[in-house]
Amino acid sequence: MAGQTGPSCESKAPGRVREKIGPGYGMLGNWSGISKRRHFSMNRQRLLNRFLGYVKIDTKADDESTEYPSSPGQLVLGKMLVQQLQEIGLKDIRQDENGIVIATVPGNLDRPAPIVAFNAHLDTCRETSGANVQPNVIEKYEGGDIQLAGDKSKKILVSDCPELNSVIGHTIITTDGTTLLGGDDKAGVAIIMEIANHLIENPDIPHGDVRVVFTCDEEIGRGTAKCPPSLIDATVCYTFDGGAQDIIDHETFSADMATVTIEGQNIHPSIAKDRMVNAVRAAAIFLESLPAELSPERTSDRQGFLHPYSIEGGVARVVMKILIRDFDAEKLDQHAEVIRRAAAITESNVAGCRVGIDIRRQYRNMAEGLAKEPRAVKYAREAHKRLKREPKLQIIRGGTDGSQFTEQGLPTPNLSSGQHNIHSPMEWSSLDEMEAAVAVGTEIVRRWSEDQA
Ligand SMILES: [Zn+2]
Repeated sequence: MAGQTGPSCESKAPGRVREKIGPGYGMLGNWSGISKRRHFSMNRQRLLNRFLGYVKIDTKADDESTEYPSSPGQLVLGKMLVQQLQEIGLKDIRQDENGIVIATVPGNLDRPAPIVAFNAHLDTCRETSGANVQPNVIEKYEGGDIQLAGDKSKKILVSDCPELNSVIGHTIITTDGTTLLGGDDKAGVAIIMEIANHLIENPDIPHGDVRVVFTCDEEIGRGTAKCPPSLIDATVCYTFDGGAQDIIDHETFSADMATVTIEGQNIHPSIAKDRMVNAVRAAAIFLESLPAELSPERTSDRQGFLHPYSIEGGVARVVMKILIRDFDAEKLDQHAEVIRRAAAITESNVAGCRVGIDIRRQYRNMAEGLAKEPRAVKYAREAHKRLKREPKLQIIRGGTDGSQFTEQGLPTPNLSSGQHNIHSPMEWSSLDEMEAAVAVGTEIVRRWSEDQA
């Protein structure tokens, strides 16, 4: 990927844009670039067609909802997947009462082997509309800025998105500029469907049971709420929910959340002298006491932060929510101490106010759990190398469903799925990178089949 230099964004005409909706399932195509042993009869057109079908279903998560899943579209997409899994020929297919879809590609070995699970999420982010998505397919992207068809003011600029330089010649899929695309994580869904399809069409590829798992409401932090590892029942799991190609995310943040409640005293301003305690002013002092350098705006790489992201209330009471993040779980306590100090400063500056702090555990760095099953990352790396690709190990300044699965005992690194500019109308996906992910998933399954259960 790296090293390819593209044309400058100003000097080059926008890529060729055209809508392409193919038939359901086409003929098998051959995937070039892979030696005979690794020959892939993977179906690129089928991968694309499925992806285009999935993004048209609005599965935007709704964090106001108390239902599970939070939006009906997730059930609609799940139902479509169940039907396709039946057509492909998987076993034990079900969509449970929570909308979670699980199925199995039965193993073809004469001995027990570790069970490998693949997971992607059905929902899309809540910030950008996922209704009436009009995907645009650009074949053989020639480089340059991309004008989006549905909104003249929207262009994907190479200067904003230099990854475009590494996908010249790829088939890429954009939005029309009015919605998100939903490659996060329908690219992952399409990749896993194609892996399953490919394994069933090619019984010569050795594999143990392969579990296909589609979860709901990942974007609102409920991705694993109704899907404990006992439901998946596998040795290892891989989420396909990452950017670009050949990246293995093997570390995530450790995360806690603080709810800070400042209690004041409200009274009519006309008689407030020496009686009113204004929680709004106290909140300002509290926030001022949090070191600015310990914020997401001022940190990168392995640095942690405190992120006050919500504040509501009035004179009598203000409630703030603060994310506490670090790669080193022990540092979360140090960051919590900073919050406690800010509370003490606030109380001493505003006579009569009370600051309450409630800290909840959210998730832990998956590196801790992955250390207990080193094969999870090791075999993913080997799979890339067997495909003559160089895997890149990365850390995520955030969490994934894999962080939760791993913490609960199911080791789950995250893999690339060709997503770019996610959560935005500028989102795009690369079909070539999705295809590469299918090859990686297939090779991972083959690698695990060499072990005994
Ligand atoms: Zn995602």
